[in-house]
Amino acid sequence: MVTSLMALHRKESDMYEAADREHAIWNFQVPPQVPDESEVKETVSCDVLVAGAGVGGLTAACRLKELGFDPLVCEKSGNYSGRGGHFGVPNSSLMKKYGIVNDLKEVARQWIAISGNDIDQELLWTFLRRSEEAMDWLLPIAEADGLQPRLVDCIYRSAPYREFYGAHSFPATGYIRGAFAPKALYKYGTEKGVSFRFNTPVTQLIKDESGRVCGAYAKGPEGIIKILAKRGVVLATGDIGGDEEMCRAYAPDALRTLSSQYIPVGCNTGDGHKMALWAGAVMAEEVFPIMMHPQHFAWCNLFFLFVNKYGKRFMNEDSYVQGRATSIMRQPDGVCYSILAGDYAEHMEESLKYGGGIFWGNAGLRYGDGWSKDQTVASVEKAIKDGFAVKADTLEELAELIDVDKAQFFKTVEEYNGYCCRKDDEAFGKRPELLFPLEKGPFVAMKIGTTLLEVVGGVQIDCSMRALGKDRKPIPGLYVIGDTSGGMYGHEYVTTILGNSHGRAVTWGYLAAETIAAE
Ligand SMILES: Cc1cc2nc3c(=O)[nH]c(=O)nc-3n(C[C@H](O)[C@H](O)[C@H](O)COP(=O)(O)OP(=O)(O)OC[C@H]3O[C@@H](n4cnc5c(N)ncnc54)[C@H](O)[C@@H]3O)c2cc1C
Repeated sequence: MVTSLMALHRKESDMYEAADREHAIWNFQVPPQVPDESEVKETVSCDVLVAGAGVGGLTAACRLKELGFDPLVCEKSGNYSGRGGHFGVPNSSLMKKYGIVNDLKEVARQWIAISGNDIDQELLWTFLRRSEEAMDWLLPIAEADGLQPRLVDCIYRSAPYREFYGAHSFPATGYIRGAFAPKALYKYGTEKGVSFRFNTPVTQLIKDESGRVCGAYAKGPEGIIKILAKRGVVLATGDIGGDEEMCRAYAPDALRTLSSQYIPVGCNTGDGHKMALWAGAVMAEEVFPIMMHPQHFAWCNLFFLFVNKYGKRFMNEDSYVQGRATSIMRQPDGVCYSILAGDYAEHMEESLKYGGGIFWGNAGLRYGDGWSKDQTVASVEKAIKDGFAVKADTLEELAELIDVDKAQFFKTVEEYNGYCCRKDDEAFGKRPELLFPLEKGPFVAMKIGTTLLEVVGGVQIDCSMRALGKDRKPIPGLYVIGDTSGGMYGHEYVTTILGNSHGRAVTWGYLAAETIAAE
């Protein structure tokens, strides 16, 4: 099967629909041969098969067990998985302790606007309304494993990119690892008797004569396993970022980032997306949005002056994380330099009243602790130590140390300083409160490039996590959650509440279990 230019230009709807062997445009649309019974090494039975032991799959399995079912979790890698550190929901009991209650209508309006309306608003409202219950379910599970859930104080504060509090972190004795909450879920699940099989990717769904999904094949260390699942299958296999062809089809920008930081490396090949397609599900209609961060080189960007390798400024640096990542990705080589003057730290605290958010403010700052200058300075110094930033006494010396057109760089700085002195950014309209001339040394240039975290689009689901077919009716027995599902994000990953991708995975896992119990 080849992908031709003609194919690329075929009707968009063709791409999003399931295709059979004859009509497939892409290789991934072609279903594999069903294994012969003689190839099956083992047949096992369970109530529900959960494919994937990430945040979503673990939540679904634990909740299913609580509700009296016998779930089997099959995981492709050798362990449960987790990453990052923020779990975002608009409200929770923890937030109430801090006196924070978000107005869901306000959050929804901001979310929809930043998504360019390209989302399923019913799904968004399901997340906004039901995530509090899911988070309140997770919090005691995390605490029972010794974690100390906290609220994160790192948001962009103004229109048009306004972000709301709601990112929860799960540190243990002061530090955070993304896998801490999944570890707590895994521990809780195993204690309750959830069965896990690792190094066992699920490969293909099985339907009965009525068309109901009633199990799947998986590839265990000993060979093919046939899994019969009385109540159906939950696909929680993560995103498509590790499958180049799927990215070309659904999320071409994912291929423009300088790296991927997904772990477990190579496991996010859209297996659940493919299995759902082969079973007749359709993909959500938006171009799949990507979650990318400007953290390929230095992790800290701040908001002063950005220049590309031609020494040119290219954006209003006063933007939120995805906005900055998108603009930087479009620069030659996908790289820019963030330039700081010797007095940068003095302007930071003041700036957080207007902007902020991750890569500007401090992503680890806990609500109530107050901003610390030391932490910002430490992250700049770390970038220098790691070889992603350079420091020099003069701009001339700085320009010698970076890959930049020097003449244009000096011209850009001179123009920028002029805007700062006049408090009028005629070039890109940065707010006067955020304009500080680059005059005092030593100067720092931090190299910035974008990395792909996840592609957050997927299978079209309804508000009960049921996969939908071409007729937009649920496929019986098939549930899709987390990054394998779509509909929540339009053209980019939304940070209206930081960490909401984890928040979605937990909420969707929780709701899938409730749906199965109710059916
Ligand atoms: C470096 C990094 C940092 C991040 N930080 C944050 C953050 O702070 N906040 C946030 O909200 N989001 C963050 N994310 C994104 C977040 O991790 C995901 O959106 C979220 O974990 C999705 O959960 P999931 O359960 O859908 O998928 P995953 O957590 O990706 O889990 C999917 C699991 O399925 C397994 N699998 C794949 N194929 C198969 C198969 N065929 N059979 C069985 N198992 C299979 C995979 O090995 C994996 O364990 C980050 C991502 C990265 C890469």
